[in-house]
Amino acid sequence: MSESNESSDQPLSIVTGGAGFLGSHIADRLLSEGHKVVAIDNFLTGSPDNVAHLADNPDFELIDHDVTKYIDFPGKVDHVFHFASPASPMDYLELPIQTLKVGSLGTHNALGLAKSKGAVFLLASTSEVYGDPKIHPQTEDYWGNVNPIGPRGVYDEAKRFAEAITMAYHRSHGVDTKIIRIFNTYGPRMRLHDGRVVPAFIGQALDGEPLTVFGDGSQTRSFCYVSDLVDGIFRLSQSDLHEPVNIGNPREMTILEFAEKILALVDTDSKIEYKPLPEDDPKVRQPNIGRAQAEIGWEPRIPFEEGIVETINYFTKKTEN
Ligand code: NAD
Ligand code: UDP
Repeated sequence: MSESNESSDQPLSIVTGGAGFLGSHIADRLLSEGHKVVAIDNFLTGSPDNVAHLADNPDFELIDHDVTKYIDFPGKVDHVFHFASPASPMDYLELPIQTLKVGSLGTHNALGLAKSKGAVFLLASTSEVYGDPKIHPQTEDYWGNVNPIGPRGVYDEAKRFAEAITMAYHRSHGVDTKIIRIFNTYGPRMRLHDGRVVPAFIGQALDGEPLTVFGDGSQTRSFCYVSDLVDGIFRLSQSDLHEPVNIGNPREMTILEFAEKILALVDTDSKIEYKPLPEDDPKVRQPNIGRAQAEIGWEPRIPFEEGIVETINYFTKKTEN
């Protein structure tokens, strides 16, 4: 496909990290919008299984490539969605250098590709740029409270650098860039053992193992279902906005409440077991979505109770196979 797209009117989107949880859902959405999609991934934390259902789709291509190395792509490109990066704390604590490299060198290469093709560039940033926030809920004008040399710094600072270089390419080179700050998103195609709290608790409940609540479970998160997030990403990609936009579901809960909800929804004998709180674990996290509502007409639609049941059903099928 990449050889013959020069004269096509069909939009072509590159998705780095396209074999990951979010990247694969973005690929599905873009294909349904009539785009050709090229996923570039080195399968560091993702898997070709996530896009196996697209293998016979003539509009889809999967390229095995590490985006910290120069990205050579022939023909026209209309959009670059830069999603490559380990995203789970367990993954980025195990892969600190790769995480820093993909956020810095990988973002530089992806921006260079967008610049050379005149493509729109969209960066997957994160609520982690706010660190352990001192204002609550978090608005986009908050600069954050990040420990640069703590264990989470490899991810947080890589994303902060990624935002900085994205704005520099916009201001200095006129690239049409967008930045999305993604808050905890969950749904089918998460890895069962990636350590994030949603697959961790569901997997533990399905196996009858104790649910490992870190700390006293009073820290909060706000969980967004993946289809809502993808809709926000698509809307932002079509907009004229260059400033960062929070996309997440403002419904906030404590981790203990979340564990209790999983115990109520999964048929299990599991109990709760308390484990030490990881270093620098943010105490609260909740998006203010005023900018997304005002500028791109976005707000989440899927209630937590619906999204979590979908996700439990997905993991139930996975563990049966
Ligand atoms: P994921 O681990 O499922 O996907 C990341 C993908 O990037 C994987 O397929 C991985 O193999 C690929 N990748 C990593 N390094 C690469 C490299 N050097 N070259 C090519 N591919 C590489 O995680 P996800 O949850 O889908 O996250 C996707 C993006 O969204 C990440 O940038 C993450 O920081 C961001 N994000 C996600 C969340 C969330 O709640 N899921 C929240 C905030 C930000
Ligand atoms: N957490 C937990 N038990 C687990 C995994 C995570 O209590 O087995 C907590 C973690 O300490 C954090 C929250 O759940 O407070 C969300 O963790 P996750 O790894 O999903 O992502 P984060 O929001 O910290 O990036």
